[in-house]
Amino acid sequence: MANNLPPEFELIAKHFTRPAANAVLGVGDDAALVDVSNGMDLAVSTDTMVSGTHFFPDVDPENLGHKALAVNLSDMAAMGAMPYWTMLALTLPSVDDDWLAAFAKGFFDLAAEFDVSLIGGDTTRGPLSLTVTIMGEVPAGAALRRNGAKAGNDVWVSGNIGDAALAVAHRHGKVVLTETDYHEAVMRLYEPAPRVKLGQALRGMATAAIDVSDGLLADLGHICRLSGVGATVDVNSIPVSPIGGRHVSSSAGLTAIVAGGDDYELCFTAPANARESIAELTDMLNIPLTRIGQIRRGKGVSLLGPEGKPMKIDGRGYDHFSGS
Ligand code: ADP
Ligand code: MG
Repeated sequence: MANNLPPEFELIAKHFTRPAANAVLGVGDDAALVDVSNGMDLAVSTDTMVSGTHFFPDVDPENLGHKALAVNLSDMAAMGAMPYWTMLALTLPSVDDDWLAAFAKGFFDLAAEFDVSLIGGDTTRGPLSLTVTIMGEVPAGAALRRNGAKAGNDVWVSGNIGDAALAVAHRHGKVVLTETDYHEAVMRLYEPAPRVKLGQALRGMATAAIDVSDGLLADLGHICRLSGVGATVDVNSIPVSPIGGRHVSSSAGLTAIVAGGDDYELCFTAPANARESIAELTDMLNIPLTRIGQIRRGKGVSLLGPEGKPMKIDGRGYDHFSGS
């Protein structure tokens, strides 16, 4: 190389150095610099994805680049924050230029869609793993937290739930999807659409919010635990896609839908007097929002099955949420 950069710097320069429009200083110095607006809280979150644990080793690198950022954008959405800045710590077994180019494309295409800048990171050698940190702003005191749910609140979920987990269950031989259904479902796994606009629109409306990453029941369970309440969810009202509709009546299918994760939809709670405003959000943002249950006094998440009868889902699903 003419400029004689060692491979690590070359790699960063080639694949991960882009103008950082919304930062004072981006990639290249010892630290990045950002300017936080007056009256705003800085929202910060980080997520690690490990090969074999969080993604199949044969994942398309472009999908992986998308997903690594999407799960972080989703955390900003769940806080009601506006994302601006992101950092990428990459551990790579080797330097594969084509792989990196595809990964960077997935990452930067999504970053551009949300006007987020990559302002720094770290690059090391080792088993494939990715850590993305994201930072954003939320008006001071207005973040959507997990601890505000009150008895009597409605429980809502955005979009539909279960396709990503059905794709995983299919890969593990627990359910059988048709080839067409699998291809559609697996895209929900790899290319989740973070609900960033919805999260911001819910400020002042939702009493608590979380993004569905570990599974609807587990994540609603976190809201309940931190809010000191319980919840009752009506299984029949959980919104599913046409694919989900074909599997909801089997035990493995239902387990994937209610206890599987990776949907990156928002689950939130709100008082009954917010129903109309929430319905208006559906039209404004073109995102289905569905009421799936109620917050009550007590603890844990209970399920109501067909004909309103209490039901349990099989053991594996319950592993995902403690205290039940
Ligand atoms: P230092 O040794 O001072 O931490 P590095 O060599 O790790 O510096 O990084 C040099 C610059 O490149 C820093 O600005 C860092 O934030 C950035 N950087 C390193 N790896 C990545 C990456 N994978 N993506 C984006 N920026 C990166
Ligand atoms: Mg470093």
